[in-house]
Amino acid sequence: MKMLAVRNLRLCTKDCLCLYVCPTGATDTEDSIIDLSKCIGCGMCADACPSKAISMVPEEYPPQQKKAEHVLTPSHTLANNKAKAEGMARLLAREAESGELYRLLKAVERSLRLVNEDLLRESGYMLPQSANTHELLASWVQEPPAPDFPVEAAKKLLELLPCNEPLEKKMHKYRCTVCGYIHEAEELPPDFSCPVCRQPASAFERIE
Ligand code: SF4
Ligand code: SF4
Repeated sequence: MKMLAVRNLRLCTKDCLCLYVCPTGATDTEDSIIDLSKCIGCGMCADACPSKAISMVPEEYPPQQKKAEHVLTPSHTLANNKAKAEGMARLLAREAESGELYRLLKAVERSLRLVNEDLLRESGYMLPQSANTHELLASWVQEPPAPDFPVEAAKKLLELLPCNEPLEKKMHKYRCTVCGYIHEAEELPPDFSCPVCRQPASAFERIE
């Protein structure tokens, strides 16, 4: 498995030993970020760094072990509940506007978010190379979860992030809003028309 060097800038004390030992000059960059196009993964910089600021990480992570359904189901329920509670804390903080109550509610909101991030990570949603993450991003590109959702950024991520698991083909159901015909497909092509009433794809709504 190919490894790459990553420097944690917060730990780096700028002793510069890594500059001397790197055989390719990958550590010698203006912005202090190791140049991965030059890194050959020899690990000499990580061994030399007195601050332990450099870690060797795999270029591609192995797929995450699938969680059993009896673990995933309660995790999802808990994550949903935490998300609702986070939303409530946000609303209450908005009402409180300022002062100690506001700060307390903001702290509650933040801590609920952190717990939820852990839950989602455990369920395999926070690993950028997992199929879960790719499927989630693709669904948000198709149906943005909020009006200000950065669709272009999500598209770019999908383009750049390699996926280390086979993506399951997800089938959806689309209903013709005119005659009620239900069509099942991964996605509805723009030139699709209803085989019953001939309405165009724009007359369909996704129901599942
Ligand atoms: S050897 Fe470590 S502390 Fe020194 S510059 Fe390199 S990363 Fe930073
Ligand atoms: S792993 Fe080797 S090639 Fe890569 S940055 Fe460190 S010393 Fe340079």
